[in-house]
Amino acid sequence: MAPADKIRCDACPVMCYVAEGRRGACDRYANEDGRIVRCDPVTVLDRRLAEGGEVRPFLQPDWDGEMLAGADLFVSGVGAGTTYPDFKPAPFVVSREVEGVDTVTVVTEAIYSYCGAKVKIDTDRHLGEERAIVRAGGEAIGMVMTGEYGSQMLSLGGVDHLTGGSKAEGRATCDALMALCNAEAVTLEIDGGSRVVVQAGAAPVVDGQREERMRVGCGSATIGMFAAQWQGLVDEVVVVDDHITGVVSEHQAGKVIGWPGTGIRIKGRRSTPGRYFQVAAPGLGWGGTDIEDPLTILGDWQPGKGARPGLTLLMVSTTGEHAAYYVLDADLTPQPHAMPESLIPAVRLIAENCEPALCTVMFCAGAGGSLRSGVTRNPVRLTRAVQAGTARVTLGGAQAFLWPGGGITVMVDVLKMPGMSFGYVPTPAIVAPLEFTMPRDVYLELGGHGGAIRPVAQVLDEGGEYGDIFRAIGPKAG
Ligand code: SF4
Repeated sequence: MAPADKIRCDACPVMCYVAEGRRGACDRYANEDGRIVRCDPVTVLDRRLAEGGEVRPFLQPDWDGEMLAGADLFVSGVGAGTTYPDFKPAPFVVSREVEGVDTVTVVTEAIYSYCGAKVKIDTDRHLGEERAIVRAGGEAIGMVMTGEYGSQMLSLGGVDHLTGGSKAEGRATCDALMALCNAEAVTLEIDGGSRVVVQAGAAPVVDGQREERMRVGCGSATIGMFAAQWQGLVDEVVVVDDHITGVVSEHQAGKVIGWPGTGIRIKGRRSTPGRYFQVAAPGLGWGGTDIEDPLTILGDWQPGKGARPGLTLLMVSTTGEHAAYYVLDADLTPQPHAMPESLIPAVRLIAENCEPALCTVMFCAGAGGSLRSGVTRNPVRLTRAVQAGTARVTLGGAQAFLWPGGGITVMVDVLKMPGMSFGYVPTPAIVAPLEFTMPRDVYLELGGHGGAIRPVAQVLDEGGEYGDIFRAIGPKAG
């Protein structure tokens, strides 16, 4: 039985009793005059506003019939409220005419127990071994996964961390996911590896050091790109890289331009001519290795194969961040020398060709559960329509990548969504906007809630179950 002065919110399984003027546990719903309302306004994307431009609240005089008939306004799921417990139509089922097509968009906020973030961190520094546990606040929230070209990858969250561990693990996972998806900075610790500050759209900070550049390529690719420009300036170039260290005199790129042999020896495992694996252990040093002194990867020079006193050597990392110049002495031992003026542009060119290092956060979630019944009485038909491409899935208006195969598993760049689109419920689970858009006839054929369809003007005028406050923002570019 509800306490006398409280009413029950049923927008998620927690079922809070909320006192007059107070908010529920997730801070997203409140008791306002004896009615449960969504605390945040519904976000409408308005193409007439510049990116980032915002009108709050939505101003009625700004609307005109012509605009409302077109594709300029899009009611997003941000602030819409949920369909939970999924027996009723979604909070908004909006009709609009888009390029002459009578279109319906079903708008909701989805509660995702099956969700996580795929995080791409542009750095060749070694953050941790593949499969190493990633922690936030000391709790396991994900793992390191297969690295990509110039980037380290993390897989965070997912149903096992949200629901399958301790309460603290679930809470820490939910907190970290929500913050990352709202483009806030989160400190992650990797077992046996680094402490990384990750923020969508910002440079990663690895063990206190802000990463500036994403490498130009692996050591072999760097040689392919720049060998011709180094020729005549130096006798040998070694591009130090944790994965593929390149040696210009042996590399195919050097061979075809007639680069003479130097008798150099590299200590790693030779893959193909001029390409070496495992020259050192992974780390935070040169080219994502653990070395601070690049000479440690060199063996004895071979006089019969071109080594001679006075031979010049450039050693450089794949970002140009590390570079050193040497000259072989009478004993064929490299001795450090100041970088010649003529070589400085060559090193700078590597750095110039690097892109800024960024963190990318992709929210990945399964939208194929019971929330489909907020769209249609026959949920599998929605899945089929989405898979067939007749129904389009967006999150906060941002086009989602749909994973092939069964279900509706989507992935979206959080920076394409309106700011602060993500919330949570203490089950724990992440809450995020979700919209399905399709022609009206498709919607009705798949068993959609035809009686719930309202034109966009009526929606903006009347509001919905959880309130009638709207704000308009300019959509993100693209
Ligand atoms: S946690 Fe939020 S959505 Fe869930 S019942 Fe409480 S107030 Fe409602």
